[in-house]
Amino acid sequence: MGENIFPKCLACDKGHLLPFSFKEDVFEKWKCSNPDCDFIVKKRDRDGFRD
Ligand SMILES: [Zn+2]
Repeated sequence: MGENIFPKCLACDKGHLLPFSFKEDVFEKWKCSNPDCDFIVKKRDRDGFRD
């Protein structure tokens, strides 16, 4: 049990994935908290990509 409830970023392994709302699609997208990474995960696709 860590101090952070959010899942660790798969890309940089430093930041954490934070949910952000996009219109009505709440929690459909997760963005890495590391500004140098900008990794985005779309839950619907269960896949990740770099923007
Ligand atoms: Zn990251």
